[in-house]
Amino acid sequence: MGTDNLKFTLGDLAHRNFRSDEFWREIPGYKDVSREEFQDHKWQLKNSIVKVDQVKNILGHRCTDAFYHDMLEGQKITPMNIRITPYIFSLINWDDPTNDPIRKQFLPLGSQFLPDHPYYQEDSLHEDIDSPVPTLTHRYPDKVLFLPTTICPVYCSYCTRSRIIGGSTEAVEKETYGFNPKKMQDVFDYIKSKPAVEDVVISGGDAFMLTSKQIEFIGDNLLEIPHIRRLRFATKGIAIYPQKILTDDEWFNALNRVHKKARSMGKQVVIHTHFSSPKEITEWSRLAVDRLFQEGIVVRNQAVLQEGVNDTVNDMVLLVRQLSLMNVQPYYVYMHDMVPGCEHFRTSIHEGVELEKAVRGMTAGFNTPTFVCDLPGGGGKRHVASYEYYDRDHGISVWRAPNVKPGQVFTYFDPIRKLPKEVQARWAIESEREKMIQESIKKAGF
Ligand SMILES: *Cc1c(COP(=O)(O)O)cnc(C)c1O
Ligand code: SF4
Repeated sequence: MGTDNLKFTLGDLAHRNFRSDEFWREIPGYKDVSREEFQDHKWQLKNSIVKVDQVKNILGHRCTDAFYHDMLEGQKITPMNIRITPYIFSLINWDDPTNDPIRKQFLPLGSQFLPDHPYYQEDSLHEDIDSPVPTLTHRYPDKVLFLPTTICPVYCSYCTRSRIIGGSTEAVEKETYGFNPKKMQDVFDYIKSKPAVEDVVISGGDAFMLTSKQIEFIGDNLLEIPHIRRLRFATKGIAIYPQKILTDDEWFNALNRVHKKARSMGKQVVIHTHFSSPKEITEWSRLAVDRLFQEGIVVRNQAVLQEGVNDTVNDMVLLVRQLSLMNVQPYYVYMHDMVPGCEHFRTSIHEGVELEKAVRGMTAGFNTPTFVCDLPGGGGKRHVASYEYYDRDHGISVWRAPNVKPGQVFTYFDPIRKLPKEVQARWAIESEREKMIQESIKKAGF
């Protein structure tokens, strides 16, 4: 990342351009697809790409043998299956797919993977450990995280829930689940029994994969609990599949009914979505968000900071400004979770802090995302510069989480590849790294 130069250089109005050309027609497999067909949510879902061979067939002569084999190698390592909508697939720059930020997120290459960090965890955020009933995580005093499904309209190769999302891969066995109203009763009963809980994040998986009836079932059941004040449906859909908002009226109306009902009760129903790079934003994104905006449905964005995707000042500022222009509130930018198969994406805490400095002051404060680190071990989200101690040379930060797990110490580690060579050598030896970590914890005052 260009941390030496924190300046935005694209010009003040760069964010006002929203792509509206027929970009998909440059892909051999889609050259005859009309705009009308491409806008149809059913067409997008039906033509989603789930296999490397489909990538090759759709790209035709634009797929080199080397790239094809690199994708096959990637499939042997990745914890996530492939699933991509034609829409987001067509936004990849196929003249240079290796360096493309969208390709990086959805189509892993064998050559890009790095060994996992020695302290990675499959459930880095301890969502399963902090779970009082299956599919529910209760970590914070007044809010819970509910995962009603483990399927998504796309699969991100870096998913923080790769342990459960999207089915087994060559490398990882996992159990996925779908919507199950009987089991959900336990979730509703638990929330009813906790009067302090006011806020439910409905994630997964992805709300786009819930049917209109399921959206209403979950919405109605949660809204009738008197102490519940706020619901958030989490979906990456708006970023990768805006056609659903625009052309699946049944689904849109169901969501809107839940939203209107909540409003009549003085409660909130909002959407949290997940745009990572400005390359994912088109005129379709703007139209989809506008349809929600016209109904008064608030949309916020949560992005993950990733090397080669959004770790430059230009990309991050452009992302923030374009989201703001569409009326999407840039809410969070996360440090990457320390989960398997992600080491090549991770950045250091220092880079996160520098990027936050570069973004702040660029636009309205309420459109300035908070850069956070969701602490490994379930300490919750903390502002990226609020560590108790940070040893940048050793790549070790030490944290507290007074409202979540008071008295407990948390640590986050920068990617080893970014550390000085001699420190990398120390990280290779277990006793040495333990020593470095203990020193940092002591210096933090524990
Ligand atoms: C992120 C998260 C929430 C919501 O936190 P906010 O900071 O309000 O967005 C709730 N529960 C869990 C377990 C979470 O990880
Ligand atoms: S959409 Fe969200 S839950 Fe689904 S694979 Fe991507 S990051 Fe994971």
